[in-house]
Amino acid sequence: MAKLHNMTDSICKIALDLPLYSLFDYLAPLDCSQLLPGIRVLVPFGRLQKVGVLIELVSASNFPTHKLKRVLEVLDQQPLLTTLDLQLLAWASRYYHYPLGSVIAVAFPALLRRDSKAKVNLPSQAMAYYALTDEGKAIALESLRRAPLQRELVEQCLNYKQPIPLNELKRWHKHWRAPLTQLLNKGFIAEVAISSAQSLPMSVSKQAPLQCNAEQQVAITAVSEQIGTFNVFLLEGVTGSGKTEVYMQIIDAVLARGLQVLVLVPEITLTPQLEARFRQRFSVEIVLSHSKLTDKQRYHAWLTMQQGSCQFLLGTRSALFTPLISPGIIIIDEEHDASFKQQDGFRFSARDVAVVRAKLLHIPILLGSATPSLESIHNVNVGRYQRLHLSRRAGHAIPPVFQVLDIRNKKLSEGLSEPLLVEIAETLAKKQQVLVFLNRRGFAPTLICHGCGWVARCSACDANLVIHRHDRVLRCHHCGQESRLLSQCPACHAPGSLTPLGLGTERVEHSLQALFPTKHVVRVDRDAIARKGHLEDVLDKINQGAVDIILGTQMLAKGHHFPNVTLVALLDIDSGLFSVDFHAEEKLAQLIVQVAGRAGREDKPGKVILQTRRPDHPLLMGLIQAGYPSFTASALAQRQMAHLPPFSFQALFRAQAEVNEVAKDFLTDVVNLAKGLTQQEVDLLGPVSAPMIRRAGVYRYQLLLQSNSRQALQRVLTMLVPKIEQLKLSKKVRWSLDVDPIDLY
Ligand code: ADP
Ligand code: ZN
Ligand code: ZN
Repeated sequence: MAKLHNMTDSICKIALDLPLYSLFDYLAPLDCSQLLPGIRVLVPFGRLQKVGVLIELVSASNFPTHKLKRVLEVLDQQPLLTTLDLQLLAWASRYYHYPLGSVIAVAFPALLRRDSKAKVNLPSQAMAYYALTDEGKAIALESLRRAPLQRELVEQCLNYKQPIPLNELKRWHKHWRAPLTQLLNKGFIAEVAISSAQSLPMSVSKQAPLQCNAEQQVAITAVSEQIGTFNVFLLEGVTGSGKTEVYMQIIDAVLARGLQVLVLVPEITLTPQLEARFRQRFSVEIVLSHSKLTDKQRYHAWLTMQQGSCQFLLGTRSALFTPLISPGIIIIDEEHDASFKQQDGFRFSARDVAVVRAKLLHIPILLGSATPSLESIHNVNVGRYQRLHLSRRAGHAIPPVFQVLDIRNKKLSEGLSEPLLVEIAETLAKKQQVLVFLNRRGFAPTLICHGCGWVARCSACDANLVIHRHDRVLRCHHCGQESRLLSQCPACHAPGSLTPLGLGTERVEHSLQALFPTKHVVRVDRDAIARKGHLEDVLDKINQGAVDIILGTQMLAKGHHFPNVTLVALLDIDSGLFSVDFHAEEKLAQLIVQVAGRAGREDKPGKVILQTRRPDHPLLMGLIQAGYPSFTASALAQRQMAHLPPFSFQALFRAQAEVNEVAKDFLTDVVNLAKGLTQQEVDLLGPVSAPMIRRAGVYRYQLLLQSNSRQALQRVLTMLVPKIEQLKLSKKVRWSLDVDPIDLY
């Protein structure tokens, strides 16, 4: 990290968390001894003061110097983010076309971002080490003949064989800083984080590892051997194959070397079991970082990792940017999960950025899933990622058996067919548990008048109101609007003519309880869990055998281990078969496999029943008869034929406005701008209205950009985005850009 010139008339380029793409120029503070990129500073902004981050010191500004204001205060003596962290954030800002200041804001805990008084006193000398990168090792020394100091430094590194500590470099030459900076900038040398202050712990685990099967062992060895180098591994392991055990043995090896572990999961609060298993196994402290924690707790987690007083961080998407003083590995569990993609503001994919981060840090990254995303499988196919496969369930468990139940013309009682009820009764008689899956909350999705056809609609959205009988309300699932549950039709006033139409989890709960009155039914969905407060309690009850029937939404698909569940029933998956979004089939296949994976995870064999009116649907058939890998092979072939991702690259502009057509006109202006920037290498599809055009009172439109070349798409976006800010209509709409969208609405 180079110390920059120190003249008080230098210009500081500051990133502020504002919706503007440019950096802000300020005069350097009068009393500063050193100004390093990455330090936080306090600056005047209008009548306010803001915390910003120094990106660069330059000698001139495009603005007249006398108009510039001066930095008020330097908040950090040392940067809290390393050069590599800043590089990653700058890359993410460019790739997702989101302002750097707002991207950096995501990397800092709220306390450091908002409160200028929150200061961090670093230990006097955070130890920095430097080593040649692969490119650095490969360069011909001859090519550096015009830069003798750089050449000498490369030779030093070659001779030293292991990372050189900063102190060593300072002893090497009194002008060590310039050549180091130049080589860092060229990517020939990288900062390697090793904390010398950290003594290696004597023992990192308190529980012996399991005896692994051959496939698990192959995976553990493959990754453990690569500690210290960049490599992406995709651990594809069928449900119950013991992926967690593989993670834990790899983590063990990383911790034993004194390195840090970053594990990202979709939603910690939904999978308390994983955290519990880590805590049982490891004797080192495990810190958590997710959005349900207080600002103070997240700040603490951030700092302990940044300073190296803790080795193990378990977090969600936003934890990705936590600085690591001695990074060892990144593990992403359930890598296919949509929650790794942020869907508002800075729309980044934590999985994809994590791969870039691992590359910058020269560490391995492990992506795990029973149902990997098509993108990751494609990356294996083209040789970018290395596949590790667990094809069998661990221990004595065998894979569940699938049965497709054709419910066309069958009598259903509240969505449950006769044969399914028989299976449920038989399973319960054996004192085993049943899991019933329905991905729709509430009592029924529609309230209709049997007399006149009136339907309860949301006044702000193009959507029906959902009946929530327990709360006695009609609720919109898109904007949250609520009204009292009606007892009489407001249109024709016929008595008793209002009828609930369709199925929700509340309704199925009622009917299951009525059909099996002596059995204990528990409902697991966002409504029920919010009310009870604790998913943990419910999971405990399930595992203690106090529950007979578990009924719920996709919350149940998330990695739970229910040893006594032997029957899984999916009530209604047909709606997922007919979506306009090409991602829907992949998501449905993942959901089916994940839910099915809850059946028969220990010694009792499991069965999965799918009720459908499309028993001949090729997706269903392929998935059930030939398994997930065969499904992904044909899905990828289809995507390739249709030139869809991952064989092409997309970016989606979304715009909304309170007045209809304004957002459409705005996007038409964007199309016209884009036409001038591309010679057919980027397709401009739209603008079209969003599938639900009106939502929460605003009208929504979208414009899709697609190209066979990621570079071409990026090139157009880089030129386009600054021009959009200047469009007149951009002030009249709310717009956003989603690079690599996973939802096309
Ligand atoms: P996954 O995460 O792949 O769905 P888990 O890691 O939850 O699977 O493992 C499923 C079950 O198998 C757990 O109870 C786990 O303790 C057990 N298990 C894992 N590996 C082994 C092994 N090598 N021998 C015996 N049991 C194992
Ligand atoms: Zn009516
Ligand atoms: Zn609504």
